[in-house]
This record gives sequence, structure tokens and C-alpha cells, in this order.
Amino acid sequence: MIVVLKPGTPEQKRDQLVSWIEGQGLEVHMSVGKTQTLLGMVGDTSCIDKDLLECLDIVDTVKVVTDPFKLGNRKFHPADSIIDVSGVKFGGDNFPVIAGPCSVESEEQIVAIAKAVKASGARMLRGGAFKPRTSPYDFQGLKADGLELLRIARKETGLPIVSEVMGVEDLPLFEDIDMIQIGARNMQNFNLLKAVGRLNKPVLLKRGLASTLKEFLMSAEYIMAGGNTNVILCERGIRTFGDYMRNTLDLAAIPMLHKLTHLPVIVDPSHATGIAELVRPMALASAACSADGLIIEVHNDPMHAKCDGAQSLTPEAFDDLIKDVMTIRSVAVRK
Ligand code: PEP
Ligand code: MN
Repeated sequence: MIVVLKPGTPEQKRDQLVSWIEGQGLEVHMSVGKTQTLLGMVGDTSCIDKDLLECLDIVDTVKVVTDPFKLGNRKFHPADSIIDVSGVKFGGDNFPVIAGPCSVESEEQIVAIAKAVKASGARMLRGGAFKPRTSPYDFQGLKADGLELLRIARKETGLPIVSEVMGVEDLPLFEDIDMIQIGARNMQNFNLLKAVGRLNKPVLLKRGLASTLKEFLMSAEYIMAGGNTNVILCERGIRTFGDYMRNTLDLAAIPMLHKLTHLPVIVDPSHATGIAELVRPMALASAACSADGLIIEVHNDPMHAKCDGAQSLTPEAFDDLIKDVMTIRSVAVRK
């Protein structure tokens, strides 16, 4: 339930109403806009009499929200959330591009790629240290050593870093990592979502392979319900009957998510397609569909990459792409 207060409501009367609602065992999320203040109620609102609230002299309207996600709901928080990741802003008018290899392989590799993507305009560096692989015999990542190499690349370039955590037990290793990624396979690992919800650190939440948008938003809700509202959503393709691509990029999910939530939505065209030559058209399409940024796999030697070489752009191809992405973005600004 959302209470829209009349413009000019005195703070004291507003706070009295907030205390009364809290007294009913509900949490109140207040959104103070230029002209209107909204009070979003989180919890079981069946004890609240909507008609009674509507009769109060400070109340303009009361809306009943049936969506199960509350904290991420745009109805509660009409303005875009801006998530600051060590100075790089996501959401609103911002369009940062994250780039880097699927997995961190060596100091030479990660530093060279970091320098190259930075020169092309990337604002953050990605690199997997803990890799969720379908086969236990495939490269599993350099783990703590990989995170250390990312720190070195950050020091060399100044780019903030993002890396995937696979289990709650590894979280202490991520203390100084700028943003934690929850991968597609862990989107519904509720213990992990709750654990990152207790941190004060941005989380990049990727959509599950076969998840609906509601499930995706409910996973974001898990993180936010723990107190961590620094969540960035990432559409990375879903499983369909498409046979020639790794996944199917759900482009319409971008504007739909913008309608449903105030959280930033970025796109990963690399995992969405699995094919380097499809990354460019999908990145351009994502910019045209109002994405708030991109995360793209870039490798300086894709043929010998330990993971996902087939979908990795060379630094040259990335450089060529990023300029065109920015051009599309400049004409496709979200209304
Ligand atoms: C990744 O970003 O390295 C990754 C494994 O992505 P996803 O979880 O989307 O498959
Ligand atoms: Mn990958």
C-alpha cells in the first residue's frame, strides 16, 4: 500500500502518520519528491483500513500495490535509483560500460586488458576469480589469487572491479572488491542473497537462466530487504528453444524492468549470445532499448582464453564498438 501525501504536508504531521503505521507492525519507506511525498508500507497491510487513511486531511490518495516486490518497486520510489560504485554511477542519465575477461588468468593478461579497455572508455573492470562451470573438469578460476590480480589491475588503471562470488563462505575475500556479482546460476541462492543483503556494497545481480522478471525482482528484493539497496540488475539472456545461440537476449525486459523498478538495468550481450560477432549488434540494440550500461567480455587472446573465448571481443573490436554504442545511447535516451 502506498500513501501519497498532499503537497505542503507539515513534517510533524507526516511523522505522526509514519509512527502510527509503524505502530501497526509495518515498515515505512518514504520517498520525498519535489512536489509529492510517498509513504510505502512494507509488510502485511491487511490490518490497515484504506478508507480511514483516505479520510485524513494530509492524505491525497492511497494505492493498493499487489506486486510482491516492494523495495524495488517503482511505484514506491518513482525516481531512478543511482548506484555509486566507487565513483562510477549507474542509473539515471549514466551509461557506464564494464569490460574485461571472463576469468582472470594471469597478471599480464588482466593488466593488459584493463589498460586496453580503459583506453577505450570502459569505466569498470570485470574478471571472474570463482567460475561457475558446467563441468567440474573445466577451469574453475584462480580464486583468492585471481582477486589479488584484479586488485593489481585496479591499482594500475584506477578502474573499480567487479567479480562473482559463488558462496557465502567466500564473501570475506570480497571485502575490498568494489562490486560483487551474483551470477545467473545463483540468482535464487537465497542464503547468498541474504548474506550480500547485509553488506554495504553494490551488488550486480544477473538474471537466472530460466527466471521470470518477477522472480528476478524478488531476488533483488531479498538483497534490499536485508538493508542493502545498492542493487544493479543485469539481463544476460535466458534459455529458449533458440539453437544457434547460447541464450536469447530478452531485449523487451529492459524497458519492462524500467517500468517495474527504479533499479538500474544493464545488459551482458556476451553471455546472452555466446558468439563474439553477435556481441556488437546486441550491445547496440541494448543501448537503443534504454539499458543503463553494459558488461562485455574482452580478451587480448580469445583463441587461448581459459573460458568463454568464443564470445570475447578483442580490445580492438571493443574499441570500435564502444564509440558506436555511445552514439546510439545519445539518441535513445530513456523517456
Ligand atoms: C560471468 O559473468 O562470468 C558469468 C558466468 O555470467 P552468468 O552468470 O550470466 O552466466
Ligand atoms: Mn564468461
